[in-house]
This record gives sequence, structure tokens and C-alpha cells, in this order.
Amino acid sequence: MALSGLDIYKLLPKTNCRQCGFATCLAFAMQLAKKTVSIDKCPFLSPEAKIALEASSQPPIKLITIGVGENKLEIGNETVLFRHEEKFHHPCGIGFIIEDDLQDAAIREALSRINKLTFERVGQKLDVNLVAVKQKKDKERFVKATQLIMQNTELSIVLMSRDNEALGLAARAAQDKKPLLFPQTFDNIDDISKIAQETKCPLVVRAKEIDTLSQLTTELNKRGITDLVLDTQDKPVADKIWDLTQIRRLALKKSMRSLGFPTIAVVDNPDPYEETMEAATYISKYAGIVLIKGNAPWQALSLLTLRQNIYTDPQKPLQIEPKLYPIGQASEKSPLLVTTNFSLSYYTVMGEVEACKIPSYILSVDTEGMSVLTAWAAEKFNAEKIKAAMDKCAVSEAVSHKRIIIPGYVAVMSGDLQDQSGWEVIVGPKEAAGIPSFLKNLQ
Ligand code: SF4
Repeated sequence: MALSGLDIYKLLPKTNCRQCGFATCLAFAMQLAKKTVSIDKCPFLSPEAKIALEASSQPPIKLITIGVGENKLEIGNETVLFRHEEKFHHPCGIGFIIEDDLQDAAIREALSRINKLTFERVGQKLDVNLVAVKQKKDKERFVKATQLIMQNTELSIVLMSRDNEALGLAARAAQDKKPLLFPQTFDNIDDISKIAQETKCPLVVRAKEIDTLSQLTTELNKRGITDLVLDTQDKPVADKIWDLTQIRRLALKKSMRSLGFPTIAVVDNPDPYEETMEAATYISKYAGIVLIKGNAPWQALSLLTLRQNIYTDPQKPLQIEPKLYPIGQASEKSPLLVTTNFSLSYYTVMGEVEACKIPSYILSVDTEGMSVLTAWAAEKFNAEKIKAAMDKCAVSEAVSHKRIIIPGYVAVMSGDLQDQSGWEVIVGPKEAAGIPSFLKNLQ
């Protein structure tokens, strides 16, 4: 369990010798608690203190890496139950199941669709992470389907097999790509252990009950297998959410090392809408990986959007660089709109301007990532700030007119801005959706 600064201070020599680079042991302890320095900086720690501090600095949920290179997926290393306490660190991996009873052409076609599931939203690239090959036929077909998938995607791979011999063969064939091994039954722990030890690939541990999972991870850890992902098998959604929540709670709040691993949830629902909703539920709480069968773009986009919202830092709003953005072939006669540098505000305005095909400028004012009304209430988006941004971005050199369009929600500042800037201030629509018709009428 993480120690507080004062707990850590009690373990330090308290000589204030400054060799760690801090004026006092207390200052060093506070930084250690924030994890901004390493314990190695203090050369005078007693062996007991070192053991205690090292144990407390281990993440309560182990970081697990699946795949290699640029597209590798890292999950786990989470430290809190609720995202208002601290950012969730490693976004849930989203993957798609392909069964090996499909023809080769159908597998290639599915992979071609999955490989294209990449989107841009509020300035961020959203990508899916995994392709899971699931065994339905014999071991030869499973290995062949695995090889086909390896040749046709850069995404990380999950090997789902009910037959340990087939799993071993496919794991050896895909070993260089560090796939996640997902035995569908966990009856023969000796066989599974051998495959994981030999290939050094991360392993899904399966059991219906959390207690059994805990016993299995303890046994596997004794055998030196520590890269684990937990699965409590197929269950009704409410039961699965209960399991995912309990595992996270026991790892974080009760420091149960045997459950300190990320989790996986497999959705098996023939209705694509229900399948997506179920996957969304597990992304929200607390799956490290979610696997679904459907790979339609709308399914991926809705899950990626949800994931993006959950895994952003709630204390740091997504923001863009505050500056003057030309949209389309903007010229000196183009309208000039102003908004904040909150990503969602900017990209919503930008999307509407682009959609109406009227080249324009958007002046994004530095409001520390706050949206229009919040920034206005916090005095980060007022006449003074907008005037300062106009000067800094030299808007008078970009356009030959002297008209600026402000969001309708802050119409109240129009007189003030007009006085301060000497520009004509036009009050725009309250909602971005009104921008196209507003700009067309303005022309
Ligand atoms: S090096 Fe160790 S003993 Fe010296 S001030 Fe830093 S924490 Fe204290």
C-alpha cells in the first residue's frame, strides 16, 4: 500500500544531510510520496527501510505489456478506484475476435476492416488495439489462422484456445509478437505454465470465482509467471461488473497482491447494439481489455469515444494550443470567430465552420482548457483576455476588416470588448450547431 509522506519520513535517517539533493529528509519524503524521486537518492537507508519503501512503491495493479513495438498495449498500473481521485493511467485495450473457422479470404477481409478502425477526435488519434484469434477447429487450423493474422495486422494479438497443445503451437509461432495467451479452460495448470514459461508471453488466468483466481495467480507467481490478466469467465453483466469492481477494490484497498493484475472481459452477444453497450459497461468499470466480435466502425468509434472520455485527466481538460487557426482557404475577408482553447469547444466550432465550407479564422483564447461559460465565470474569457489574444495573434494582419464574432453565451461582454478592441463585436449563436446558418446569413 502507498505510504504517506509522514510514514516515509519515519523510515528515513532524519539527519538532513542533503545528499539526496533536498534540504531536509522531510522534503525528500514528500517527493517520494508523490513518486517524483527514487529511493536510490538517499544512500543512508537501512535495509529494513529499503524493503518497506520498495514494497510501497510497487504499483498495486501490475503493468502488463501485450505485443511489441509501436502498437504494443500496456494495461494495469492503476492506483485509484475513481477517476476524480487521479487520472486512470492505461486505457482499456479494445480488441476484436476472429474465429478460425472462417475462410482465409474472410479473415483477411475482417482484418482489413479492423486495421482501418482509426479515428481522430478533439485533436487526438483513437486506435483499436487487439485482434483475438479464437479456436473453433483443429490445432493446425488455429496455427494457420494465427499466422494469417500475424501477416495481416500490426495490432497486438490474443490467442484464445480450448486446447493447450494448439495454444502452445500458436504461441511458439507468434512468440516474437508477444501475444496474450488466453486458455479457454484452466484445468491443466502444468501445461499452461510450461507454455507461458517457454514463450514468456502474458497469460490470462480464468476462474469463475475470485477466490480461485487468487489461488491460481499465487501458484503461477511461485512458478515465476507474473505477467497475468484476470478473467472471471462468462456471466450476466451485473455479475461481471461486480467481479471487475471487487478485483479492483481488493487490489487497491486491501492490497491483495494475488489480485493485483489487470482484467479482461469478453462480450458474447449476437445483437451488435447490446454487444456495444455491454462492452461500454466493462470499459467504464474496470476492464483492462474488452474483446467483442462486431467490428463495424460505429461500434469501434462509440467505444473509443467513451474510452477517451474516461481516460483523460479530469484535472487537466483537453486543450489545444491557443492561436489563430485558418479554416479552409481563409483570406483577409474571412469571418473571424473567437472561442476558448478547450479542445471540445474548439473542435465543435471548427467542425461546424468546415461543414458550411465558408473559409474563416478561429481565434482560440488561452482559458486553461475551460469551456466558454466556465471560462467566462472564472474571468478567463473576458474582453481583456480576448483583446490580449487578438494582439498576440496579430489578427489585424490576418483580416482586413474589424469584425469579431463572439459566442452567444457571452453576449454580455460585447460592449466591453468593443470598447477595448475598437472592433465591431457581433454576437454569434449560442450553440455551435447554429454557426453554418449564421455565417451564411452574415455573408
Ligand atoms: S540523503 Fe537521506 S538522510 Fe540525507 S537528507 Fe536526504 S533523505 Fe535525509
